[in-house]
Amino acid sequence: MVFISNNIFVVHNLSEKLDFKQMRIASFSEKCVGCRTCEVACAFHHRRTFGRKSSSLSVRRFEREGRFEIVIYEKREGERPACDLCGGEPMPLCVKLCPVGALEAVG
Ligand code: SF4
Ligand code: SF4
Repeated sequence: MVFISNNIFVVHNLSEKLDFKQMRIASFSEKCVGCRTCEVACAFHHRRTFGRKSSSLSVRRFEREGRFEIVIYEKREGERPACDLCGGEPMPLCVKLCPVGALEAVG
């Protein structure tokens, strides 16, 4: 399990051709609004289901603190597949679909 901090890397313009060998997904938990679109998109990419446990992303909710935390799994954990950077897709679905820019393709 890997947390990717928000103070690193050069952010790609998504209109550029992405270099998948160099790419990682950076998360910005402070922007996250907890919609879970990324989890569902990721699960669909991997298994064509919408089950959140089939996602390489987990969005954790801390109600008392009023915040969310995004976790990206770089290795398989139980039912959860490892992030494969959306191989076969033109761009990472979580990055494409997050409505607030809390996920970015970087390298
Ligand atoms: S899609 Fe974006 S805002 Fe929605 S849960 Fe995922 S990271 Fe958070
Ligand atoms: S890049 Fe694709 S496989 Fe990786 S976390 Fe995002 S949606 Fe899931």
